[in-house]
Amino acid sequence: MCLFCQIIKKEIPAKIVDEDENLISFADINPKAPVHLLIVPKKHIESLNQIKEDDLKLLGKLILKAKELAEKFKIAGSGYKLIFNCGKDGGQVIPHLHLHLLGGKKLE
Ligand code: 5GP
Ligand code: ZN
Repeated sequence: MCLFCQIIKKEIPAKIVDEDENLISFADINPKAPVHLLIVPKKHIESLNQIKEDDLKLLGKLILKAKELAEKFKIAGSGYKLIFNCGKDGGQVIPHLHLHLLGGKKLE
Protein backbone atom coordinates (compact mmCIF):
# COMPACT_ATOMS: atom_id res chain seq x y z
CA MET A 1 0.00 0.00 0.00
CA CYS A 2 1.32 3.49 -0.80
CA LEU A 3 2.44 5.93 1.88
CA PHE A 4 -0.54 8.26 1.47
CA CYS A 5 -2.99 5.32 1.59
CA GLN A 6 -1.32 4.37 4.89
CA ILE A 7 -1.81 7.94 6.18
CA ILE A 8 -5.47 7.78 5.05
CA LYS A 9 -5.88 4.52 7.01
CA LYS A 10 -4.14 6.16 10.04
CA GLU A 11 -1.42 3.50 9.94
CA ILE A 12 1.18 6.27 9.69
CA PRO A 13 0.75 9.50 11.67
CA ALA A 14 0.42 12.89 10.00
CA LYS A 15 -0.55 16.39 11.08
CA ILE A 16 -4.08 16.20 9.67
CA VAL A 17 -5.71 19.61 9.23
CA ASP A 18 -8.91 18.56 7.49
CA GLU A 19 -10.74 15.36 6.63
CA ASP A 20 -14.05 14.51 5.00
CA GLU A 21 -15.59 11.63 3.09
CA ASN A 22 -13.47 12.15 -0.04
CA LEU A 23 -10.35 14.08 0.96
CA ILE A 24 -7.68 14.25 3.64
CA SER A 25 -5.34 17.20 4.08
CA PHE A 26 -2.18 17.24 6.17
CA ALA A 27 1.03 19.20 6.68
CA ASP A 28 3.94 18.32 4.40
CA ILE A 29 6.72 16.67 6.44
CA ASN A 30 9.35 18.79 4.65
CA PRO A 31 7.65 22.18 4.25
CA LYS A 32 8.88 24.48 1.47
CA ALA A 33 6.88 27.45 2.80
CA PRO A 34 5.34 28.58 6.12
CA VAL A 35 2.09 26.96 4.96
CA HIS A 36 2.65 23.72 3.01
CA LEU A 37 -0.29 21.36 2.99
CA LEU A 38 -1.02 18.30 0.89
CA ILE A 39 -4.61 17.80 -0.20
CA VAL A 40 -5.16 14.16 -1.03
CA PRO A 41 -8.12 12.24 -2.45
CA LYS A 42 -8.86 9.13 -0.39
CA LYS A 43 -9.29 7.26 -3.66
CA HIS A 44 -5.90 5.93 -4.81
CA ILE A 45 -5.19 7.58 -8.15
CA GLU A 46 -1.53 7.30 -9.06
CA SER A 47 -1.08 10.65 -10.83
CA LEU A 48 -2.70 13.13 -13.19
CA ASN A 49 -1.93 10.60 -15.94
CA GLN A 50 -4.60 8.30 -14.49
CA ILE A 51 -7.48 10.77 -14.03
CA LYS A 52 -10.75 10.03 -15.82
CA GLU A 53 -13.94 11.91 -16.62
CA ASP A 54 -15.50 10.19 -13.57
CA ASP A 55 -12.92 11.91 -11.34
CA LEU A 56 -13.83 15.47 -12.37
CA LYS A 57 -16.11 16.09 -9.38
CA LEU A 58 -13.41 14.85 -7.01
CA LEU A 59 -10.82 17.10 -8.68
CA GLY A 60 -13.17 20.05 -8.31
CA LYS A 61 -13.56 19.24 -4.61
CA LEU A 62 -9.76 19.14 -4.32
CA ILE A 63 -9.44 22.69 -5.63
CA LEU A 64 -12.35 23.93 -3.52
CA LYS A 65 -10.70 22.40 -0.44
CA ALA A 66 -7.46 24.23 -1.29
CA LYS A 67 -9.37 27.49 -1.40
CA GLU A 68 -11.05 26.75 1.96
CA LEU A 69 -7.75 25.79 3.60
CA ALA A 70 -6.09 28.93 2.21
CA GLU A 71 -8.76 30.91 4.06
CA LYS A 72 -8.41 28.79 7.23
CA PHE A 73 -4.62 29.24 7.24
CA LYS A 74 -4.96 32.97 6.51
CA ILE A 75 -3.10 33.05 3.19
CA ALA A 76 -6.09 33.69 0.93
CA GLY A 77 -5.39 37.43 0.92
CA SER A 78 -1.59 37.24 0.55
CA GLY A 79 -1.81 34.51 -2.09
CA TYR A 80 -0.63 30.97 -2.64
CA LYS A 81 0.42 28.36 -5.18
CA LEU A 82 -1.30 25.07 -5.99
CA ILE A 83 0.97 22.45 -7.52
CA PHE A 84 0.41 18.99 -8.97
CA ASN A 85 3.68 17.19 -9.67
CA CYS A 86 3.36 14.42 -12.25
CA GLY A 87 5.89 11.70 -12.93
CA LYS A 88 9.66 11.64 -12.75
CA ASP A 89 10.42 14.88 -14.56
CA GLY A 90 7.58 16.63 -12.72
CA GLY A 91 9.23 15.74 -9.41
CA GLN A 92 6.50 13.41 -8.19
CA VAL A 93 7.84 11.21 -5.41
CA ILE A 94 4.66 9.76 -3.90
CA PRO A 95 2.60 7.77 -6.44
CA HIS A 96 -0.78 8.93 -5.08
CA LEU A 97 -2.36 12.06 -6.56
CA HIS A 98 -2.03 15.12 -4.31
CA LEU A 99 -2.26 18.87 -4.54
CA HIS A 100 0.37 21.01 -2.81
CA LEU A 101 -0.93 24.22 -1.19
CA LEU A 102 1.96 26.62 -0.54
CA GLY A 103 1.88 30.09 0.94
CA GLY A 104 2.88 32.43 3.71
CA LYS A 105 5.87 33.87 1.85
CA LYS A 106 6.70 35.19 -1.61
CA LEU A 107 7.07 32.07 -3.75
CA GLU A 108 9.36 31.86 -6.78
P1 5GP B 1 5.60 14.99 -4.56
O1 5GP B 1 7.04 15.29 -4.79
O2 5GP B 1 5.29 13.52 -4.73
O3 5GP B 1 4.68 15.88 -5.34
O4 5GP B 1 5.33 15.38 -3.06
C1 5GP B 1 5.37 14.49 -2.01
C2 5GP B 1 5.43 15.31 -0.75
O5 5GP B 1 5.16 14.45 0.34
C3 5GP B 1 6.80 15.95 -0.51
O6 5GP B 1 6.68 17.36 -0.44
C4 5GP B 1 7.25 15.33 0.82
O7 5GP B 1 7.90 16.26 1.66
C5 5GP B 1 5.96 14.83 1.42
N1 5GP B 1 6.11 13.65 2.25
C6 5GP B 1 6.88 12.56 2.00
N2 5GP B 1 6.75 11.65 2.97
C7 5GP B 1 5.86 12.18 3.87
C8 5GP B 1 5.32 11.69 5.10
O8 5GP B 1 5.60 10.59 5.57
N3 5GP B 1 4.45 12.51 5.74
C9 5GP B 1 4.10 13.74 5.26
N4 5GP B 1 3.25 14.47 5.98
N5 5GP B 1 4.59 14.22 4.09
C10 5GP B 1 5.45 13.45 3.41
ZN1 ZN C 1 -2.35 5.48 -2.33
